[in-house]
Amino acid sequence: MRWYIFCNGHILLRDNAIPTGSAPPAGLEGPLLTQPLPSIDGEACMAVLTERVPEGEDFRAVPLRQSYYVLSQADYRMAGKAEELLYWGAHTKYCSACGTPLVADTDISKRCPKCAKEFWPSLSIAIIVAVTRGDEILLVQSHNFRGNYMGLVAGFVETGESLEECVAREVQEETGLAISEIRYFGSQPWPYPSGLMVGFTAKYAGGTLNLQASELRAGGWFRRDKLPEIPGPMSMARMLIDHWLLTSGTAKKPQQQ
Ligand SMILES: [Zn+2]
Repeated sequence: MRWYIFCNGHILLRDNAIPTGSAPPAGLEGPLLTQPLPSIDGEACMAVLTERVPEGEDFRAVPLRQSYYVLSQADYRMAGKAEELLYWGAHTKYCSACGTPLVADTDISKRCPKCAKEFWPSLSIAIIVAVTRGDEILLVQSHNFRGNYMGLVAGFVETGESLEECVAREVQEETGLAISEIRYFGSQPWPYPSGLMVGFTAKYAGGTLNLQASELRAGGWFRRDKLPEIPGPMSMARMLIDHWLLTSGTAKKPQQQ
């Protein structure tokens, strides 16, 4: 059994790995919440939410984002799923229609015993977009970035909106620019705490850069040889920027004679 143990927003690692064993790690007292997970290569997995780091065990509490740099991809992805399910479990206790305490139904759903309404984990969907103009890319710095790097325009999808409409609206709102050729790039679970990040590419189509001061503190067009600090490799922003770097440097070199 692999134990994905969360405490105060951190995941507990032993020797820089997910603790394993047939029983819960010793010293794990009074877990607030347990949640069965899918197995990895036939090995069962369990998520546990606990209030304090067990004493007498050589645990290291690591922020989930940092665990990306320590864990295997499979363990990091499972840790994200564990965190999302534990967050949902801890924050979905009462029926939103009638206020009755919910009971577990399936492994990943709850039910109201009074009005029978079902509750499943929900996702917040956000878009992120790499807008390019010739050999330049549009980079911005949001007020909520934790660092001095420059990233991409991003935002949450609103009700009644398609993903493409959201991409165009966010770029217009944050930068004043119009875009075209909006193309799907890829998606990524974003368990902070329960998101799905959907990446797009787009082309500049008009307008003058006019940053939305309430959202952004910096922004501009950058060429590949003058890039500022960019987001870390775990993010969809970095995948989009790396993709642009890979595909934009295709200006034909003069042929050797
Ligand atoms: Zn109810």
